[in-house]
Amino acid sequence: MRRSFTLLAATCLLFACTLWADEHVHWEMVNRIRDEGIHHSQVMDTLQHLTDRIGPRLTGSPALVEANEWTLEKLQEWGLENGHLEEWGPFGRGWSFSRSTVHMLQPRQTPLMALPKAWTPGTNGPIRGQAIQAKIESEDDLDQYRGGLQGKVLFMSDKREIKPPELAEFARLSPEDLQEMEAFDFPSGQVGKWLEEARKHLKLRRALNEFLVKEGAIAVADISSRDGGTLRLGSAGSRQPDESVGVPSFVLAAEHYNWISRLLEEDQEVELELDIESQFYDDLVVYNTIAEIPGTDKADEVVLLGAHLDSWHAGTGSNDNGTGTAVVMEAVRILQALEVRPRRTIRVGLWAGEEQGLLGARAHVEKHYASRPDSEIAEEQEFPAHLRTLGWPITVKPDHAKLSAYFNLDNGSGKIRGIYTQGNAAVAQVFEAWLKPFRDMGADTVTNRNTGGTDHVAFDAVGLPGFQFIQDDLDYYTRTHHSNLDVFDHAQREDLVQASVVMASFAYHAAMRDELLPRKPIPRKPPENEVGDEEDEE
Ligand SMILES: [Zn+2]
Repeated sequence: MRRSFTLLAATCLLFACTLWADEHVHWEMVNRIRDEGIHHSQVMDTLQHLTDRIGPRLTGSPALVEANEWTLEKLQEWGLENGHLEEWGPFGRGWSFSRSTVHMLQPRQTPLMALPKAWTPGTNGPIRGQAIQAKIESEDDLDQYRGGLQGKVLFMSDKREIKPPELAEFARLSPEDLQEMEAFDFPSGQVGKWLEEARKHLKLRRALNEFLVKEGAIAVADISSRDGGTLRLGSAGSRQPDESVGVPSFVLAAEHYNWISRLLEEDQEVELELDIESQFYDDLVVYNTIAEIPGTDKADEVVLLGAHLDSWHAGTGSNDNGTGTAVVMEAVRILQALEVRPRRTIRVGLWAGEEQGLLGARAHVEKHYASRPDSEIAEEQEFPAHLRTLGWPITVKPDHAKLSAYFNLDNGSGKIRGIYTQGNAAVAQVFEAWLKPFRDMGADTVTNRNTGGTDHVAFDAVGLPGFQFIQDDLDYYTRTHHSNLDVFDHAQREDLVQASVVMASFAYHAAMRDELLPRKPIPRKPPENEVGDEEDEE
């Protein structure tokens, strides 16, 4: 008995080991995917249309609706089926801008590099005002400025020393960087601090918007968080229909901001002229673009590929996240060109509202896969959903059991170097096998670490297998992220061709596998309320 048990155990172990080593790789299909993706790529044509022709795609702007319609048309042209625009919301006010000039008139005349923050009003033609330095860090600071802001442009940030750059302007992940990522990283338990800060910031912004309008201030200026003439910016004002949008608010190039700050420190009078034109929209609908390659014998099971279609407004939304969108579209174009007949349905989701808190992806997850109750904490009701604590328990819908994987791409233009499993150790050996054909292209790292900040988090948060690829940084964090330099020229063709090929192959392998991908246990309420992952809004 004992011996046969040992024998059985040994056989099982051997068998299991064989299975373990044998995650199937469809090498011939990989060859075809590589051929189509490398020699017949359309990824840059897709990206060029999104950036040069459609331009920045802020959620709630007419350009994003145009992008929804164009991506749907393109996917249908390539033969994808069941294409539609999936409406969600309400999102609140829409916004776009069409003009932004800021000049210094005194003590000397010069144009300044400046762009308006989203959801702030324009100036109704050129207006002039006097710059003053103002330090408002809490609602208590407002009182000292009462009665003194009429006709003023408030410089609200401290000036910042421009130091020699510590980071290379353009960098790839080194073998050491990748090796470090493979090591397990214990959760810090430090979640929550960013949430507290974000709520404080939002409350102050609401009070300030009302205060500045009442006091007759002309505008607010902030310093760009990047230097070298890079304008990096997000939103101020408000997209909530019942809230004040405040006064015009713009970001100045760090070097220009510092210049004016130094003049103000020397008690020089600084007169500015602003001419900012922006538009609000009350009745625009927001959509995700959805289309699919129908499956065959497992058609009711789904492999989902996605990226956010929306962007900020300073550049043309190239690397955040036109690149991810173009790669996802190219991956399914490749598969369509090869006339694959996947077992599972391969679906594409191009999300809106990512930059405001993963809103489009969250709406999609809630509609199709799982929901969680709203926070019941009374003090949290004044905040938008992504700034409230998570509700429990998670209620799953039938399709929750049928999503094999969600693959997301949203870290700029860098090629794929590997993938994060989000702590799903069981899936690691599957991904290692699927990456084998792309070792020569630099993609071979599988890490069980988590990465946050983008749409796969919406899936992971309800126990669905949502994954984000590891990408080379390139100039994402030094130059392009949320900046005026997020334009087509900063996208790297060869990187995007590589990423498209890897994405197409992952989609194919997930769709052809006998089983769904292994999952983590569904999240349960932790002993103390945890909070959501960090999102992109600033
Ligand atoms: Zn992004």
